[in-house]
Amino acid sequence: MKIGFIGLGIMGSRMAENLLKSGYELNIYNRTESKAKALIDQGAIWKDTPAEVAKSSEVLITMLANPEAVENTAFSENGFINHFENKLWMDSSTVNPTFTKKMVKEANLRNIRFVDAPVAGSLKPAQEGNLIFLVGGDKQDVNDLTPLMEIMGKKIVHAGQNSTGTSLKMVVNLMLAQSMLAFSEAVHLGTNLGIDRKFLMEFLANAAVTAPFLSGKVHKIADEDYFTEFPLKWMQKDLQLVAQSAYETETALPSGNVAKELYQLAKSKGLADEDFSAIFKLLGKE
Ligand code: NAP
Repeated sequence: MKIGFIGLGIMGSRMAENLLKSGYELNIYNRTESKAKALIDQGAIWKDTPAEVAKSSEVLITMLANPEAVENTAFSENGFINHFENKLWMDSSTVNPTFTKKMVKEANLRNIRFVDAPVAGSLKPAQEGNLIFLVGGDKQDVNDLTPLMEIMGKKIVHAGQNSTGTSLKMVVNLMLAQSMLAFSEAVHLGTNLGIDRKFLMEFLANAAVTAPFLSGKVHKIADEDYFTEFPLKWMQKDLQLVAQSAYETETALPSGNVAKELYQLAKSKGLADEDFSAIFKLLGKE
């Protein structure tokens, strides 16, 4: 099966590499061509436009920054959307459910089968093929994509029809953003009360009140290592999409919206391209 992969950033480059290593023929495109070099060296086939990727692939995977990036790549002059009739498109980008529904409509108009399949898990799980796919779509389409998701991930959560995968991702990241904030505030308070910071972090790493994902972050924060696994600017973007989804469904998200603004503040303080755990720095006295 020939696979097209568009979006070779932190996540996409690693997901594509796992497909390539498994022996799939891979047609690739990225807005910034230089990021494709390592994959080309391993045998991936570079295409000059998203349209060229679509023409030469049976399945297309997109892993792009946000709705605007998906829209540009699909509908711009050399976009893929008009060159993929009767084929299968899996969008793994984190976008909002309303946007996904719009893509479903556009796909249906062109007889493109569509599955929304954003992921939970960051750089390391992407590299090691341990992502969790949060999937919305027709059962047959999901089944057809399962062998590919099994290469890139360790778990496939089929939430329901189209857009439920994206909806699940909104829920997950709402919690992720706030768990990081809660941890940061708590550590700063404890430190200011005189508890040794290293001791406190080690205690919290395995405490029942701490979100499990933080056990992988605590030691990095303790070492002031904010190497970018999940860019803070994308966490703020996700909270913006969460807020939009809450508005559309008349859901009150008082603490989620405070979190959104705190991540915005971090962005304007120059932390946009650091890991989202750098929110820790924003809340500290320093
Ligand atoms: P990234 O490294 O910043 O990659 C973003 C990708 O989108 C790049 O290929 C980038 O192209 C492309 N892009 C951005 N704006 C574009 C535009 N206007 N037109 C065309 N292409 C555009 O981000 P990432 O961490 O891989 O994240 C990708 C997606 O996965 C995002 O939706 C993110 O929220 C989600 N996600 C990330 C993580 C994580 O831990 N990193 C985890 C789960 C989900 P260039 O290379 O040219 O900039």
